[in-house]
Amino acid sequence: MTELTALYSLEKLLAMDGIDELDKMSAEVNPFWNRARLDVTWSLPVMSGLTKNSRISIQQMREASRNELLVFHDKSYVETLDLFGNTGSAFSARFGLDTAECPIFQDVHKYASLPVGGVIDATIGVSEGKFKNAISFAGGFHHATESQAAGFCYLNDTVIAIKKFKELNPGKKVLYIDTDVHHGDGTQMAFYDDPDVLTISLHEMSMGFFPGTGRVEEIGIGEGKGYSVNIPLPPLTDDVEYWRAFEDVVVPIWLSYKPDFVFWEVGADAHMDDPLADLMLTYDTYHRLSMTIRQLVHLGNRKLVAVGGGGYDPVTAAKVWTIVLTDLADIALPPILPAEWIRLAQKYGFKVSRGGWTDRPRRMDDENHPKVKRAVDDAINKVKELIFPVFGLEK
Ligand SMILES: [Zn+2]
Repeated sequence: MTELTALYSLEKLLAMDGIDELDKMSAEVNPFWNRARLDVTWSLPVMSGLTKNSRISIQQMREASRNELLVFHDKSYVETLDLFGNTGSAFSARFGLDTAECPIFQDVHKYASLPVGGVIDATIGVSEGKFKNAISFAGGFHHATESQAAGFCYLNDTVIAIKKFKELNPGKKVLYIDTDVHHGDGTQMAFYDDPDVLTISLHEMSMGFFPGTGRVEEIGIGEGKGYSVNIPLPPLTDDVEYWRAFEDVVVPIWLSYKPDFVFWEVGADAHMDDPLADLMLTYDTYHRLSMTIRQLVHLGNRKLVAVGGGGYDPVTAAKVWTIVLTDLADIALPPILPAEWIRLAQKYGFKVSRGGWTDRPRRMDDENHPKVKRAVDDAINKVKELIFPVFGLEK
């Protein structure tokens, strides 16, 4: 069996200049669609020498075809994105386009469809045994729905890849696990009535926090009842509380469901240094997540594709995804961050406060801890009450 981990390169995205044009015409830098983020995240595995490691196979993304996009997306939405991708139009607004988060800019349809092609290829490559597992830092655009762009997401790569997988492998069971700090609403909705695609999302839930969905009570409908699992977490949730939810709820459901293929939307934005969110995870939890997910997947000889998702502090996102990459490939991280990469991050104006792969330890203060613990307990208990019976699990 192959031991190769496929890593989808960001070079094609970096070679285009649409994001530079976007930057020139905007008052503020788009938190997602900007060069610094792409460059800093992609350069870390490259400058660490990981892309030359024999266990990692570098793959290029390709634009998804029109037919592939139509596996999920509405025809007039795809046509609008294609036609007005460079100019914007009166039609854009009805599809959630031309907003601050999902702006129309030069070649936007290419920026959106390259990750889709990459994630489809990753899925087919892994499912056919060409790769042991795969990761694409660009991917996991979980807010995109059939006909709406939202939250930096235009096209839902993972939904399309899951649908493709199901087409090629009828009867197989898929698990979509989303650890991005935002609820995986678009992906959940796409499979809300499907018992063969279990979606599990752990996310922050607080007043006014995007996208506002992801309550435990959203458990699916019809045959899919019980196959949408939501674990909403309060601001300031730390490693210990997060891991408690993962172990108490995610692991037993996973073991009982026995998925054949797993998609993991990593999302680096649950890390404590993320500027758009309020969870307090450290790199340790990402490392623990990838080791645990790898173990759960590969013990049963199952398949795994990981996608990057959000992450708005480029230095953090780069480190999170590189940690996940090395864990999936089962290789060591370099002992310290490459000096060349630190200089690159600094050139873009980012601070790299530590030379290694860890965080400064932080302890939750005594005032907040009981409140956070209580809210996490509530979420765990509610999931046990609503979901566990569907999987024959005891509360
Ligand atoms: Zn996010």
